[in-house]
Amino acid sequence: ELTPSGRTARAMLGAAAVRLAELEEHLGDLDAVAADGDHGTTMTRGIDAAVTAAGRSGPAAADVLVAAGMAFADAAGGASGALWGSGLTTAGHVLEAAGPDTPDPALLVRALREAEAAVVRLGGSEPGDKTLVDALRPLVDTFAAAVGDGEDVHEAWVRAARAAEDAAAATADLVAQRGRAARLGDRSNGTADPGAVSLAACAVATTAAVPG
Ligand code: ADP
Ligand code: MG
Ligand code: MG
Repeated sequence: ELTPSGRTARAMLGAAAVRLAELEEHLGDLDAVAADGDHGTTMTRGIDAAVTAAGRSGPAAADVLVAAGMAFADAAGGASGALWGSGLTTAGHVLEAAGPDTPDPALLVRALREAEAAVVRLGGSEPGDKTLVDALRPLVDTFAAAVGDGEDVHEAWVRAARAAEDAAAATADLVAQRGRAARLGDRSNGTADPGAVSLAACAVATTAAVPG
């Protein structure tokens, strides 16, 4: 039996999987502009494995996220697979502090911050480098600010997802500094970073699964 937070985590993964399947071709096209074109299939492979693993995990959100992260990294491969795997498992380990109970908003903020730190540590990218970090940083900052303003978790996630979407679109104006796209210099100018776009799309797609 899943706990309420475990159910939420599993529902969020399911919603992300549905959205990534819809976007698979588009993400591949974005990635093909300046890199190897596999971002759509990498993300769908990763999220599908994550959903399967989450279906057999322990009951709490922490269990779901750790299982999902390990499966994601394993199945997806590529830069984004390793980064998503690290982010999801890191968030899961932080949520272990809540045990079977629903994590309070402050712990959710900490889980997101530590997931972002793990992604930055592993990938070596900072905002402005034209990577998924350009969407992840505003996602986390906006969620933290909204929770600080007293918004409920659902409304905070909605605001955060919108900020991530805007930031992902704005990566079109950046020059890639990391990942495969950086090797081709300015070929990606005018095109949004695929990893930022997929991350923001997952955030938006999961809002309906997040209770207040
Ligand atoms: P690969 O580059 O191995 O083919 P994907 O195509 O699945 O992997 O993912 C590409 C995305 O991964 C990029 O658009 C970018 O957002 C992200 N990415 C690549 N390298 C890094 C890095 N060092 N730090 C952060 N994000 C990165
Ligand atoms: Mg690629
Ligand atoms: Mg690749």
